[in-house]
Amino acid sequence: MPLTSLYTCSRCRKEFNFSNIKYDESHKLVCLECLDKITKLERKEKLQFEKAEDNEPINFICAHCRYKFSIKKGSPKAVKCPYCGKTKLMIIKRYKDENDLISDSMDHRFDY
Ligand SMILES: [Zn+2]
Ligand SMILES: [Zn+2]
Repeated sequence: MPLTSLYTCSRCRKEFNFSNIKYDESHKLVCLECLDKITKLERKEKLQFEKAEDNEPINFICAHCRYKFSIKKGSPKAVKCPYCGKTKLMIIKRYKDENDLISDSMDHRFDY
């Protein structure tokens, strides 16, 4: 068997050969499987926002200062943290508890 160099995925810590791993936006090595999961998750969050009724409040948590707030769908206000003004936000999923939320935000998408 030829010796090929393997790359470790920064998310699942499994090793992959070069054709199965990619750099993500933050230049970390992520395997295609994890990349697919990230994309799906992001799409789901976006969908959740778009599917909300007009004037239905959507709960956000600021990824920067953890301030929680809600913005009504269809509001002309810019979607940003009223506390620190950052726009890096996460939608609080109703089925998730606080601990999940925190581990979620430890996600590499939020360290830069
Ligand atoms: Zn992976
Ligand atoms: Zn904030």
